[in-house]
Amino acid sequence: MSTCPFCGWPDDDLYAVVSRHHTPEGETVWTRCACGSLQVRVVGAGGAVVSARGRPSREVVRCEDGA
Ligand SMILES: [Zn+2]
Repeated sequence: MSTCPFCGWPDDDLYAVVSRHHTPEGETVWTRCACGSLQVRVVGAGGAVVSARGRPSREVVRCEDGA
């Protein structure tokens, strides 16, 4: 199990889900850690994998979904 490199929060324990997007591969889920770090998780048949991780921030980040 991986953890957040900034605050040590377990990646398996979702702190906050920002948005979900369905993709051909499955689902992409944007989440925000307890420290404010944004994460992009790609959810496929094998489970969720953190594919990108932002720096901690106190700013509120909203995903603009034009669909
Ligand atoms: Zn964190």
